[in-house]
Amino acid sequence: MTSDPQAGAGGPTNDPATSRRPAVEARLAGLRARLRELGADAVLLSAPADVRWASGFTTPEDAKAVVTPDAATLITDDRYTAQAAEESAIEVLIAGGHRQLDEILGRVAGLRLAVQADHLTWKAARDIEERLGAPPLATEGLTRALRLVKSPDEIDRLREAARLTDAAFAHVLEGTLRAGVREIDVALDLERFVRQNGGEGMAFDVIVAGGHRSAMPHGVASGRVLERGDLVTLDFGARVDGYHADMTRAVGIGPVAEPLRGWFDAVLQAQEAAVAAIRPGLSGVDADQVARGRLAEAGIAELFVHSLGHGVGLQIHEGPSLSSRSTDVLAPGMLVTIEPGVYRPGVGGLRIEDLVLVTEGGHEVLSRSPKGYLEV
Ligand code: ZN
Ligand code: ZN
Repeated sequence: MTSDPQAGAGGPTNDPATSRRPAVEARLAGLRARLRELGADAVLLSAPADVRWASGFTTPEDAKAVVTPDAATLITDDRYTAQAAEESAIEVLIAGGHRQLDEILGRVAGLRLAVQADHLTWKAARDIEERLGAPPLATEGLTRALRLVKSPDEIDRLREAARLTDAAFAHVLEGTLRAGVREIDVALDLERFVRQNGGEGMAFDVIVAGGHRSAMPHGVASGRVLERGDLVTLDFGARVDGYHADMTRAVGIGPVAEPLRGWFDAVLQAQEAAVAAIRPGLSGVDADQVARGRLAEAGIAELFVHSLGHGVGLQIHEGPSLSSRSTDVLAPGMLVTIEPGVYRPGVGGLRIEDLVLVTEGGHEVLSRSPKGYLEV
């Protein structure tokens, strides 16, 4: 576990930048150690989730961060002068346009600079190389290991995001989710509920897929009208203070025929078996195999076309990975999704997904919505 405290030494405060400072300091210490291992002294963070992680700034798409051995600076433009001053736990520099690269390189003069090769554009990398006279150190997955285990403060936010996701599901279950309603109207109702109840936004474009569209694992809500007999997949999550929830439920619009009805029971059993297995020390490969094995017993393993799950945090997909190719091993404080699903084009499909916290003693399921078979 990382040890970021939840508030400043002076106790809780309403100033977001001040209250984030201790957590950010702990993160930067981990990042600097990682850079030293890689042979770099400084880094230009450009991946939005990492810029937010290192600063607390809530519009990281329009910012970068430079971290050196003894300083950390958020660099953004004039549109964000007030917002950055209010939110950033690190020094802020307002420099847009052509001045931005000058300022960044000025701060890392004489230092071995690392960049995020899995995010920085080729053009930006070329510009930096041209100015430095040598290529910067290209890194991939720079913060992945540092962000695997969540702090208590991060877990609180993920817990709240999961709670809001559950509340939104209960809301559409009692109202919009009916035959005759378009998928998009259900999606918009989920989103409106989340936004009106304190969510920053949705974790990703809401998936509502009924009928033949349920065979699309990522069937973002369309104008299709839900019909009796549909098994509708709803996959969505609230985002709270940058942290993403992720949950999938499948609901019958009236009675659901075979083979989907039988597949539902098989997927639920596989999902529950995988959740039950989650504990520290379990490998991502073994977790995936628990669900895949159950679906094989039901004769439908070949319809499970994706991996069992993924980590969640400041990004909807981050480490650890629960898949047949994973190299991760679960540890307390990790947050993972458990989401087996089966899909057959032309027929349909379904998925059931919970957000699960790995604890010292095993796990805690943060998604509380009912997941047994139900019809509306
Ligand atoms: Zn999902
Ligand atoms: Zn997911």
